[in-house]
Amino acid sequence: MIFEVLTLFPEMMESVFSASIIGRARAAGAISVCCTDIREYTKDKHRKVDDTPYGGGYGMVLSCQPAVDCIRAVKAKSDCRTRTVYMSPQGKVLTQEKAKELCGYDRLIILCGHYEGIDERILQLEIDEEISAGDYVLTGGELPAAILVDCVARMQDGVLANRECYEKESLSNGLLEHPQYTKPRVFEGLEVPEVLVNGNHALQEKWKMEQSLIRTREKRPDLWEKWVSKHGGAE
Ligand code: SAM
Repeated sequence: MIFEVLTLFPEMMESVFSASIIGRARAAGAISVCCTDIREYTKDKHRKVDDTPYGGGYGMVLSCQPAVDCIRAVKAKSDCRTRTVYMSPQGKVLTQEKAKELCGYDRLIILCGHYEGIDERILQLEIDEEISAGDYVLTGGELPAAILVDCVARMQDGVLANRECYEKESLSNGLLEHPQYTKPRVFEGLEVPEVLVNGNHALQEKWKMEQSLIRTREKRPDLWEKWVSKHGGAE
C-alpha cells in the first residue's frame, strides 16, 4: 500500500516512519510512505500557506491554493484506488474496523492540518472523509497521521511476521487480548500461570479465550456489551 502524507512538517514525519517495523517494511518494499511538504506548492511569493480566518477568531487557517494543488499533484501520480482523508478532531474516531476498511484501497492520501485548521473548501473539493485520532485536540494532524499509517500498515502483507500477529490481538475480533508473559517463570514472587507452561496446547487456547472474555468485561464494558449482543452472552 502507498501512504502519501501531506504536511507542513515533513521532517517530523520522516523520523517516525524510518524507525522500527514501519522503517523495515519501507526498506523491504512492503509499503511505501512518502511525505510531501504542502509549502512546496504555494504560489505566494513569500511562501505563505495560511491566512487569518474570515469572520474573525484566533489562529491561522491553511489556504485552499497550496493544499488543493498539493493534493491534486499527489493524486495525479497514480490512478490506483485511492482514499483521501483529512486528519481532524471533527472526524469519526479511528477504530480497528475503520483501519481494516482502509486496507481495501491501494493508496491513502492523508492531509494534516495545523494551527486553526483548514479552509472548508479543501474538504469540499478533495477530501473523501475526516478521521480523528480521538476526542481531544492536538496542535497538528501529524501525530494522528502517524497513528493512521502505523495502524493500516501493520495489516499489509510483509509488514508483520504473519497475519496471526494482528488477527489474534486486541480489538481484531472485538475482544481484548489475553495477558502475555515471558521468561523468567517467577519474577518477584509472581508466577506465570501454570497452564501456559504445561505444554497442553488445547488447554492454553481455552485459557486464552477465557482470559480475553474476562478482561474485556472488566476493562471495556462497552466492547463487552457489543460482544454479548453479537455472540449471545458468551461466558
Ligand atoms: N480548530 C479546529 C477545530 O476546532 O476543529 C482544530 C484545529 S487543530 C488545533 C489543528 C489541526 O490538528 C487540525 O487541522 C487537525 O489536522 C489536527 N488535529 C487536532 N486534533 C486532532 C485529532 N484528535 N485527530 C486528528 N487530527 C487532529
